Amino acid sequence: MLQGARHVHIAALNEAASELGFDIEIHELRKSSDLSDASPHALVFPGGESTTMRLTGNDSTSKLLPAIFDWIRNDDTRPVLGTCAGAILLTNPKDGGEALIDAQIDRNAYGRQVDSFQSTLESSLLGSQFPGVFIRAPRFTSVGENGQVVVKNGDEVVGVRTSNRVALTFHPELSQDRSFHVWLLKTAMEVSE
Ligand code: GLN
Repeated sequence: MLQGARHVHIAALNEAASELGFDIEIHELRKSSDLSDASPHALVFPGGESTTMRLTGNDSTSKLLPAIFDWIRNDDTRPVLGTCAGAILLTNPKDGGEALIDAQIDRNAYGRQVDSFQSTLESSLLGSQFPGVFIRAPRFTSVGENGQVVVKNGDEVVGVRTSNRVALTFHPELSQDRSFHVWLLKTAMEVSE
């Protein structure tokens, strides 16, 4: 709930859960204690504006961002889906600690808002195509040895996985396909069994 497209993710998660036929409980995280109170099985890092998210998430009234980074680092089986600005924060946490996705990423790398676009992607994670919505998107410039390329737009890498964390440079919540949210919930089920 730092900022950005979070309500659309909530709707997408609920739809994914009903596709899978199980109930989920969604916790809206605004401050660090929300995370400890919720002890979630999975986490979504929405898109939005990473600069704003860094400011709001590091503010002394919230401290949510460092709490989330700790939560992710404390157990690398924890399923995380980071989209667009969320992918930037996972790949470049800028907190002096290790990156949560082993790659390098450039902000706003396709240009300005008018350079936003849609494209049909190929995902090895899903084993299918996926409709990609790119809004002032970042771009992966390299992928490290602990980064697995899981989504491509032609030759370009647009999704990277490290452990059970997936960073996407597009907005899966803004298309009708719930496959990435289904992946997150299924992974959470497997990990917590
Ligand atoms: N341009 C944004 C940033 O740098 C990301 C855009 C998005 O999340 N749609 O944070």
